[in-house]
Amino acid sequence: METVEKNQEYTVMIDDLTHEGLGVAHIDRFPIFIENALPEEKVDIVVVKTGKKFAYGKVLNRVTNSQHRVPIKDMDLLRSGIAPLSHMDYGYQLAFKQEQVQRVMTKIAHLPEVPVLPVLGMDEPYGYRNKAQIPVRKLNDELSTGFYRKNSHQLLPIEDYFIQDPVIDQAILVVRDILRRFKVKPYNEEENTGFLRHLVIRRGYYSHEMMVILVTRTAKFFQASRIAEAIQKALPEVVSVVQNVNSEKTNVIMGNENSLLAGKESINDQLLGRTYRISPQSFYQVNTRQAEVLYQTAIDFAELKPDDIVIDAYCGIGTIGLSFADRVKHVYGVEVVPEAIEDAQANARTNQQNNVTYQVGKAEKVMKQWAQLEIKPSVIFVDPPRKGLAEDFIQVSAELGPDRIIYISCNPATLARDLERYEKLGYHPEKVQPVDLFPQTYHIEAVVALKKVEQ
Ligand code: SAH
Repeated sequence: METVEKNQEYTVMIDDLTHEGLGVAHIDRFPIFIENALPEEKVDIVVVKTGKKFAYGKVLNRVTNSQHRVPIKDMDLLRSGIAPLSHMDYGYQLAFKQEQVQRVMTKIAHLPEVPVLPVLGMDEPYGYRNKAQIPVRKLNDELSTGFYRKNSHQLLPIEDYFIQDPVIDQAILVVRDILRRFKVKPYNEEENTGFLRHLVIRRGYYSHEMMVILVTRTAKFFQASRIAEAIQKALPEVVSVVQNVNSEKTNVIMGNENSLLAGKESINDQLLGRTYRISPQSFYQVNTRQAEVLYQTAIDFAELKPDDIVIDAYCGIGTIGLSFADRVKHVYGVEVVPEAIEDAQANARTNQQNNVTYQVGKAEKVMKQWAQLEIKPSVIFVDPPRKGLAEDFIQVSAELGPDRIIYISCNPATLARDLERYEKLGYHPEKVQPVDLFPQTYHIEAVVALKKVEQ
C-alpha cells in the first residue's frame, strides 16, 4: 500500500463527504479530507497534513466540476468556517444532511428502518441568523471586526457574513466605527491584554429590537455611557446596550457579569404568535423562521390532548412549552441557566399562561425530584445541547412512563446514541424529521417522535 506523505501531489476522485462537508478521496483505501471538493469531482491536490488514519489535502486545480457546485460568494466564508457548505447548491445541502442523519441512524442507533424524512429547508437560505458573536482585534493597527480563520485565532476582516441578518452586519460596522472613534482598545488574545473582546448583537426577527453586548476584559469602562448613547443614536433599533465582563483567558465568549449601559435589560421577539423576553445569558434559537417550523413539527409529533401533563426539558426561556400550554393541562419546564428561567417565568405571565411550573437545575436532577413528587407526564419534550442527554436522564424519563417523548436534537451523533438507549428501555422512534436551521453550515437539527412500545 502506498503511504501518503506531506507535500505529495495526487490527482484524485472525490467519493464522499465528511460530516463537516469536506470532500473525501481515497488512495489505496487511505482517506484524504479536502476542503472545497465535492463528490464526483476530479481534483489535483497536495497533501498538507498526515495522520495515522487519514490525511488532509488542498485543491491545487479542479479538473472537473460537480453539477451541484455553485460559485462561492467569498472564499473567506469557507476559510473562516462561517459557511462551509456555501459551494454546494441548496438542494444538495439538504440531501447531504438527510444522508448524514440516515447514516447515524444505521451506524450508531442501529435503527436503519426508522424513516428519516426529507429535510425541511428555507426558501431563502441566507441572512437568517438573528445573533452575531464577533471577535474584536487589532488589525493593521486599528480596532477591527471579522471572523477567525478556521482552526486559528487569526482575524479575517469580514463585513458581509452572508448567513446573518444583513441589518446586524451593518450594525457591526456602525459599532466598530464608534469604538474606533472613542479609541477603545481591542483585546489581545495571546497576552490577555487590551479591553474589548467581542461584540454580540441580537435582533428580533419580528420585533426588530436590537441588543448590543460589549464583552470586555475588565469591568472599568471609560466613557461607557457616552459610547452606549452614540450606539443608540446611530442605530435607533437598539433598545439595549449591555456590558459583559469576561476576564478569563478562554474561548468562551461571555462571562457571567452583566451591567446595563443603556436602555432595557432584555429584548422581545415573537415565535408562533407569542411574545418572549430574551436576556443576554439566555439561549434563543438563532434562526427564527425555521425555529417556528421546528417547534410546529415537534408539536404535531406530540399529538397533544387537553389532559396532557407535559415536561419541557432544557426549556431555555420557555418557547417550546409556552407555544402549546393553552392546549394542555400543565407544563413543567427545567433549565440550568437561572436568567433563562426568569425569562421563562416572565414569558408565562406575558402570554397569560398560569398552568406552567419552572425549575432551575440540571434536567437529570430535577427529573428525579419530579419523579419523587409523583408527577406523571404523558409527554416529555427534550431539547438538549450538543452533548445530548445524560444516561440517568434517559433512565428516569423512561421510568416516568410517558406515552410519547419528543426529542429535538442539534447533534445527530448524540441523538442516535440516545435513541439506541431509549429503544432498550421500550421507547421506539417512529420517524425523524430534520429541519434546516443552519443553511450553508454542516449543523443539523432534527425532531424525533418516540412512542412507548406496548408490552
Ligand atoms: N428549548 C429551548 C432551549 C434549547 S437549547 C429553545 O428551543 O430555545 C438547550 C438549553 O439547555 C439551553 O438553554 C441550556 O442552557 C440548557 N441546558 C444545558 N445543559 C442542561 C442541563 N444539564 N439541564 C438543564 N438544562 C440544560
